[in-house]
Amino acid sequence: MPCGMNMRVLKTVIELRPYRGSLSGMIGLVPTMGFLHEGHLSLVRRSVEDCDYTIVSIFVNPTQFGPNEDFKSYPRDMERDLALLDEAGADAVFLPGTDEMYPPGADTFVTPGDITERLEGAVRPSHFKGVATIVLKLFNLVQPQKAYFGQKDAQQVAVIKKMVADLDVPIEIVVMPTVRESDGLAMSSRNSYLNPAERQAATVLYGSLRLVEDLITGGERDAELIRQRLIEFISEEPLARIDYVSVADAGTLDELFFVVKPVLVSLAVRIGRTRLIDNIMS
Ligand code: AMP
Repeated sequence: MPCGMNMRVLKTVIELRPYRGSLSGMIGLVPTMGFLHEGHLSLVRRSVEDCDYTIVSIFVNPTQFGPNEDFKSYPRDMERDLALLDEAGADAVFLPGTDEMYPPGADTFVTPGDITERLEGAVRPSHFKGVATIVLKLFNLVQPQKAYFGQKDAQQVAVIKKMVADLDVPIEIVVMPTVRESDGLAMSSRNSYLNPAERQAATVLYGSLRLVEDLITGGERDAELIRQRLIEFISEEPLARIDYVSVADAGTLDELFFVVKPVLVSLAVRIGRTRLIDNIMS
């Protein structure tokens, strides 16, 4: 334990199991990939408020990255993360190595269904298989009553809720709102990849979502027109390249012709070499 820290730091399953066994009461789990920001910390603080014990995991999960994605370069700063978690009141942090979570020969995976064929799943095949597998493993290891996720990753929330329902996992999924920078950019560990010009350009994501929010509030119900407005707005930013824009049913993630609430408006945009996602529910 680093000096002055109250939080337990657990690196192996053999350490985690007896620690978990010694706890009673309400346990909250916050799964993360580290390089923490206020978005992550809002989940931790909520768990600390709701639960008797909060366990945070930090694991950059290789199975959710595609071959040409940023697994190797994903930002890491363990010392800072531990200090932030301790300050936020986490009771323990689980920091497994890759072999701990995927020992040689481990080849059983959770394969989510249709919901992964759209949006992120369509652009990142097998991403959600990696997410669902690691999240179920963490659920089985930590055995929390509540687990905390961010609305920022809206499809991830939908996939995990579906997995929990389909596989009868006895855990409540708590979803927290997206935490944003003062100019509206959704906080993300990947924002650290942006140079100053790209950081400025990245405000186009939230700018386009606000425009759409105003359209929907003003009564616009033509989903295709809304997609066109998003594309026009984002295309005015020279550093931005659209991966997708979507106006979908918030439950099924099916694309809509007419806006019926609750609607999920989501997008993925490349700013230079950085891929950013954002969404609003209306
Ligand atoms: P990650 O470390 O990116 O895997 O994120 C860990 C958890 O934090 C996930 O449930 C994310 O949805 C959530 N999260 C990430 N960014 C934000 C944000 N800006 N606001 C709220 N939650 C977030």
